[in-house]
Amino acid sequence: MKIGFIGLGLMGGPMAHNLLKAGFELKVFDLVPALLKPLVQEGAMAVDNAQLVVENVDCLITMLPASEHVLSLYLKDEGLIEKIDPKTLVIDCSTIAPDAAKNVAEAAVKRSITMLDAPVSGGTKGAKEGTLTFIVGGSTSGFEAAQPIFSAMGKNILHAGDHGAGQMAKICNNMLLAIHMAGTAEAIQLGVNNGLDPKVLSDILVQSSGRNWSLELYNPYPGVMDMSPASNHYQGGFKVNLMVKDLGLSQQAALLSHSSTPLGALARNLFNLHATQGNGQLDFSSIQCFYQADKDLV
Ligand code: NAD
Repeated sequence: MKIGFIGLGLMGGPMAHNLLKAGFELKVFDLVPALLKPLVQEGAMAVDNAQLVVENVDCLITMLPASEHVLSLYLKDEGLIEKIDPKTLVIDCSTIAPDAAKNVAEAAVKRSITMLDAPVSGGTKGAKEGTLTFIVGGSTSGFEAAQPIFSAMGKNILHAGDHGAGQMAKICNNMLLAIHMAGTAEAIQLGVNNGLDPKVLSDILVQSSGRNWSLELYNPYPGVMDMSPASNHYQGGFKVNLMVKDLGLSQQAALLSHSSTPLGALARNLFNLHATQGNGQLDFSSIQCFYQADKDLV
């Protein structure tokens, strides 16, 4: 089976690597050509533009930053939707607005193309280890057809509902993630400011009722977990700017559905302020620095 893959950044790169490892043939394109080199060394074919990616492939995967990139790639003049063979299964793994996902899917359905929104959870670690969770929106037949492809990159493959439902579930998840990451950073800093060792405190919290994913797998305090972005000057991982985007999507959804999300609104403001202080390209666990009087941590 031949797969075209567009967007080989922090997530797309390792996902494509796992597809190659599983034996899929791969054609790749990114606006940053340097990102394609390691994949070419592993056997992928690099092409010069997105139009070339969609020629003669059975499946197309996109992993782009935000709604505007996805809308522009698929729908603007020379948009890919008009070029894709209807037999191609199209999977967008980017995290984007549910309405944007629905718009692209609508255009795909008009051309009899099967399209899925399939944002992921599990971070760059999950992408590298092939243990991502795929949160899928689209038809049941499309969901079933994509199983071998998802299985090569992930562990949990979940069907949220029709087009856009995958994005909606993902946005709820990331709002909760931002809230427990900020809460975790706040609690650790309180302990440290009162003389506790961050590692000892984290060990206690993770075995107590404050336990959560950030504490267990992504501790925001430097030196507590060797492999976390916090122990690598907050490099790699999930950028603050992308978290701000996702929190903005959660607030748009809240407005449209008249939902009360006071903690989500607070989290958006907190991460947005952190981004505007020059931290947008750091991993989102760098919110830890926000709580520190001494900003020399990074
Ligand atoms: P990234 O910025 O590292 O990668 C995005 C890539 O898309 C870049 O390499 C960029 O050059 C490329 N790109 C943009 N427009 C393009 C176009 N028109 N044609 C070809 N390439 C194009 O971002 P990432 O961290 O890999 O995140 C990608 C998506 O996954 C985002 O929607 C993000 O919210 C989501 N996500 C990220 C993580 C994480 O931990 N990083 C976790 C879950 C979900």
